[in-house]
Amino acid sequence: MLKKPRGTEDIFGKKAQDFFALEMIIRNVMELYNINEVRTPIFESYDLFSRSAGESSDIVNKEMFVFQDRKNRSLALRPENTAGVVRSVIENKLYLEENLPLKQFYFGPMFRYERPQAGRQRQFTQFGVEIFGGKSPSLDAELITSGIEILSNIGLQDFSVKINYLISGENKSKYIKVLKDSLAKMKLCEDCLNRIEKNTLRVLDCKVDQEKFDNIPSMSDFLSPEDDQYFKEYLSILKRMDFSLEIDAKLVRGLDYYTGIVFEIVSNDERQGSQSTLLAGGRYDNLVEELGGPQISGAGFALGIERILIALENAEISISQPTELDVYCIPLSKQAELFTSSLLFMLRKAGLKSDTSFVNRSLKSNFKKAESLKSKNILLIGDKELKENYVIIKNQTTMKEEKVKFEKILNFLIEEL
Ligand code: ATP
Ligand code: MG
Repeated sequence: MLKKPRGTEDIFGKKAQDFFALEMIIRNVMELYNINEVRTPIFESYDLFSRSAGESSDIVNKEMFVFQDRKNRSLALRPENTAGVVRSVIENKLYLEENLPLKQFYFGPMFRYERPQAGRQRQFTQFGVEIFGGKSPSLDAELITSGIEILSNIGLQDFSVKINYLISGENKSKYIKVLKDSLAKMKLCEDCLNRIEKNTLRVLDCKVDQEKFDNIPSMSDFLSPEDDQYFKEYLSILKRMDFSLEIDAKLVRGLDYYTGIVFEIVSNDERQGSQSTLLAGGRYDNLVEELGGPQISGAGFALGIERILIALENAEISISQPTELDVYCIPLSKQAELFTSSLLFMLRKAGLKSDTSFVNRSLKSNFKKAESLKSKNILLIGDKELKENYVIIKNQTTMKEEKVKFEKILNFLIEEL
């Protein structure tokens, strides 16, 4: 039997409905925030990702699906969408003053070669927001609140908002020195030991050694006065809103391009396991320039749709309603079956959700089918009815049956619904 590739998923039935419902909730919040959609290609040049995520990042090092096209160009399936959006902003000159701040969102599949487990797949779906220009604490607040708004709109409550301010410039070197001294006293995993020299801050992101970093010197104590001021203003905005936040000096994020404010929203539900990060992001003020555009600030976050669906399941929250039919038609003869198609055409044109059996079923199993489809009405038609221009409509709530003339069918059903 042909099988789907490892780490991928077929989505159908209730899950497909949940997916759709979640997407709709997200799109509604985006409308409220005046954030517009952008769709970029699912594959891009390999260079785009190696330059944006950084050669030393896990994504580029071990997680990318890379391939050559027929002309030997090196391409990659997108592991994330920020790089693609930034490329698109530069290529389409969307950074022009009149567009700023440019607020965009994306929704779609991403690909990473990871060890598959619950909440960690090789093809997964991300929704994300990217904002360019207009750097300010209030725009940073706009970004994170749009994410929190989504989580609360779907009914999730048990999560923590973790925030940090990534140190940069001279102060970063000072901090790294202190951090290295402190790390030197610890027994760390191989990954950490490798990172200490290459990318010291990333050590703090290690999932294996996490608990050992509880008492490391705090990054926020080393911020420049301007950064410190920015961070304080940002926090003061968020403190006025009705969610609690946590300053996490160890929060650094896995990608190399972040500068300034970074955040993660983490589920507190233990069943989410090590896949507890629902949403993550931050500021990346140099990325547009690094990818060949003008000096223009940027900030964004990404949210994992599959992880949200797992969180919803754990919290026993249902966001989609099963489809309920208005009418289920049961033809009782070959002639009636031929007539049913035009009947359905008319019902659907009038906005009534309707269906029929199509496969040969006994009357009894047709009634069962109507029940399982939660149809509000059953419409029966046989040779006799066909000849005399009427149908029988049975209301599944009141159980009442009525003869309805062809030309009155629509009126009858619409009045009843
Ligand atoms: P993690 O630390 O869990 O690997 P990450 O730092 O690689 O996450 P980001 O690149 O910031 O994650 O992606 C943002 C969000 O996308 C994550 O918080 C998560 O919800 C989701 N996500 C990332 N990788 C996967 C994956 N392989 N499968 C499913 N969802 C994922
Ligand atoms: Mg990862």
